[in-house]
Amino acid sequence: MSNLQGKSRNGAGWGVTFLVLVLLVVLVALVRSATSREGPTIIFKKLPKGLSQRTELVVGAQDEKHNVKALAVEVVQEGQVVHQVAMAFSARPHRWWKFWSRGPVSTAIWTVPVGHEVIPGLKDGRATLRITALSDSWGRFFRGGRGEAVLELPVRLAPPQVEVLTSQLHIHQGGCDLVLFKVSPGTIESGVEVGDFFFPSWPVKQSLPETRLCVFAYAYNVDASTPARLVARDDAGNETLANFTYQVFPKNFHSDTITLTHEFMNRVVPPIMSQTPDLRDQGSLLKNFLEVNGQLREIDARLLVEFSKHTSPTFRWSEPFIRIPSKTEANFADHRTYMYNGQAVDHQTHLGFDLAGVEHMPVAAANDGEVVFAGFLGIFGNAVVIDHGCGLQSLYGHMSSFAVKAGDQVRRGQVIGRSGQTGLAAGDHVHFTILLDGIPVNPAEWWDSHWIHERIEVKLQPYAQP
Ligand SMILES: [Zn+2]
Repeated sequence: MSNLQGKSRNGAGWGVTFLVLVLLVVLVALVRSATSREGPTIIFKKLPKGLSQRTELVVGAQDEKHNVKALAVEVVQEGQVVHQVAMAFSARPHRWWKFWSRGPVSTAIWTVPVGHEVIPGLKDGRATLRITALSDSWGRFFRGGRGEAVLELPVRLAPPQVEVLTSQLHIHQGGCDLVLFKVSPGTIESGVEVGDFFFPSWPVKQSLPETRLCVFAYAYNVDASTPARLVARDDAGNETLANFTYQVFPKNFHSDTITLTHEFMNRVVPPIMSQTPDLRDQGSLLKNFLEVNGQLREIDARLLVEFSKHTSPTFRWSEPFIRIPSKTEANFADHRTYMYNGQAVDHQTHLGFDLAGVEHMPVAAANDGEVVFAGFLGIFGNAVVIDHGCGLQSLYGHMSSFAVKAGDQVRRGQVIGRSGQTGLAAGDHVHFTILLDGIPVNPAEWWDSHWIHERIEVKLQPYAQP
């Protein structure tokens, strides 16, 4: 009996202890969540670079444990709150009993206009953007979890100013010209837009960062009626389009027929395929040739655009480009029809000059510059690309050997290798072209000392170092 009583007393004691423990655990959990400072993380769909007439902020908040219940944006200028907006989000039911579950991440996204259009009091200068988010957690003594992000941004209400410094330009289709212009401070990007092509500008000299030079082109395949415009963008997202005077002369390029033979394709295609592991065997020699002539040609063109990003912000040369003494076997932008067994099987445009001389003739650098590539380059075989600055580069293809490597500084006339027939070549020659921002342009202009003088030198003379 006494034993039993003892047991029941013991049982009651354990029960009380258990209850106290449970209460203690609940209390600790409650205090922990109530004193928690964890809050949602602010996220930006696109980080704004500045505030302008019309700026849209796409901002959001993310929380792994709780619901995001509100977002607020505050714009502060010179210590004054000039704009304040808030947005409430309907939360999912708060399943407090599922305290162990993290649940799906709660994300709230909000598009808020914060430009001068909605904030008439906004002035040019700088502004502070404060974004706060609240969650429905019990944190901060039941006021909810809080996240914050602060951005210091420039405010530019007027778009960049553009002043054109050159008069009437004359551009031949497939060729280039140079325009000089001045932009207002705060402009971070400017250049010439011709259809889908954008040619960036460069400072005319280091001490005049706002006076810009831009070599631009009407690519061989851009219609002469396509407008060319100056574009300037500032750090606040404003954009200005400006016209300048120019005339485009359409050009009729040559047409050419190339008769494909089994012997020729069998000589050139397998070496190219073996050095281009990305190309798949298409099942026949002709199909493989067409893959090289089409797909690989496009891949190579994209690589040339990549190389153009490694360019010096100033011209590295001061004299006209030199042409290797040789016979011209093909011209720039020849339209080629490929015939096989009496059928037209392909059409491509030949974007350079084919220069032929003696076998393995020395190949000279057309001008001073830096080698940005020396290696196997698809249809061009063994090729060298030299950077001459401001997006201007020269390409030498089908070489048998190299005398330079990437990173080498070369002088005008320096031998960079020897001609050959690597890549898509029917005989020993050099495929030469000039590239502007990776786009092939007519090299004949750059070989012409009169053209260089009129189009480039005369315009840049006033800015030459004293
Ligand atoms: Zn060629």
